[in-house]
Amino acid sequence: MTTEKLYQWVFGDVLFPQSEEYDEFRYKFLIALMLCGALLTAVFVAGEYSKLNRIQTPHMVSMQLFTLASFGLWALLRGRKHLFKPVGWAYELICLMEYTSALWLVPGDELRLLWFFTNIPGVFILLGQRAGWFITVLSVVWLAISNTLMPAPYSSNAMATASFGMIYMGVFFHAYGARSISYFTRMRDYNRRLEQLASHDMLTGVLNARAYYAACEQHISIASRTGQPYAVIFIDLDHFKSVNDKHGHAAGDAVLKATAICLQQSVRQSDALGRIGGEEFSVFLPNTASAGALQLAESLRRTVEELNPSIGERNLHITASIGVAASGDAPEEMHAIQQRADQAMYVAKKLGRNRVSAIDPGIQSKSISDAAMQDWR
Ligand code: GH3
Ligand code: MG
Ligand code: MG
Repeated sequence: MTTEKLYQWVFGDVLFPQSEEYDEFRYKFLIALMLCGALLTAVFVAGEYSKLNRIQTPHMVSMQLFTLASFGLWALLRGRKHLFKPVGWAYELICLMEYTSALWLVPGDELRLLWFFTNIPGVFILLGQRAGWFITVLSVVWLAISNTLMPAPYSSNAMATASFGMIYMGVFFHAYGARSISYFTRMRDYNRRLEQLASHDMLTGVLNARAYYAACEQHISIASRTGQPYAVIFIDLDHFKSVNDKHGHAAGDAVLKATAICLQQSVRQSDALGRIGGEEFSVFLPNTASAGALQLAESLRRTVEELNPSIGERNLHITASIGVAASGDAPEEMHAIQQRADQAMYVAKKLGRNRVSAIDPGIQSKSISDAAMQDWR
C-alpha cells in the first residue's frame, strides 16, 4: 500500500483548504489518537486472551467496549470533518469511562491515575481551552470523589500531588494552546491577504490578468468535459487617455474603480471578471452561448454609458467598445478565444466606438450595429 493510499484509508476523503490548516491538524490528530487508543487496548485485550498478561474480568469488558467504541468513532469521523466536535466529545467521554474503570477495577496498578493526566493535553489541543479546563476540574473533583469509594484508595498526599499536578498541566496547556491558536490564526489571515494581493488588481479589486486567465483555463477545461458553451467579453474604455489628460491621473483611477464596480455588479457570481490591461476589462462567461453573451455585452455597454462617474463637482460621460467571442464546436485554447474577443473589440472601435462587435468561430469578422442588436434583445 502506498503512503498516499494508507493516508486516505486512515483519514478518508476530506479536503481542507490551506486556510483551515489548524482544523486539519486537529482532525488528523483526533483520528490518529482514536486509532492508536483502539489498537493499544486491542493489544492489551489480545494479551489477556493469550495469557501474556492478567486483567481483571470486569475491566476486560470495559477495555473491549472501549476498543469497539474507538474503532466505531474513527469510522464515523473518517471523511466527515463536520462531525469533529461531537465525535471529539464522545471520544473524551468514553476515555473518561475507561480511565474510571481502571481506577475502580484495577486496584493492583498504583499508577492508574496517570491516565487522567495524559488525557488533559489532548482535550486542550482538540477541544479548546474551555473544554480543557472543564475536563481538568472534572478530573480533580472526580478523583477526589472516587478515592473515597475505591477498594484501594490513594493516600491524601498522593491525591494532593495528583490534583496540583493536573492543575499545573491545565495552566501549561492553556498557555500553549492560546499561543498556537493565535499563531495559526495570524498565519491564516496573512495567507488570505497574500492570496488576495496575488490574484486581485490593487486599484479595482477585480481579478488581475494572471488570475483571470487561470480562472478561464479552469472554466474551459470543465467546459471541454461537459460540452457546455462559453464566451468571452472584452471591454475597452473609449478615449480614456483624454480622461487622464483633462482631469488628471487620479480622476482616471476613480473612473476605472467605478467602472469595475458597475461591471462586477452586472455579471453573475460564476462569471470571471478581470482587469487585463490599463483600461481593459474582460469577462469569461461559463455555460453561455453567443446570444446570451451578446445580450450581456450590450447591457454592459449601456451600464457603462449610463454610469456618469462623478469627479469632484462634475460627472464624466464615458463609453466602452466591447468585443464578444463565443466558443465553437471545436475545442479552443484560451488565448485563441481571447484574441477573437480582442479583434471584435477593435472592429467596434473602428466602427465608431460605444458599441458591441462579435467574431464567431469560422466567421472572419462580424459587426453588430446598435440597430442589429435589437434582434438579440
Ligand atoms: P481608445 O478609445 O482607442 O481605446 O483610446 P484610449 O485613449 O482609451 O486608448 P489608449 O490605449 O491609447 O489609452 C489608454 C490609456 O489608459 C493610457 C493610459 O494613460 C491610461 N491608463 C492605463 N492604465 C491606467 C491606470 O491604472 N490609471 C489611469 N488613470 N490611467 C491608466
Ligand atoms: Mg486599451
Ligand atoms: Mg481605450
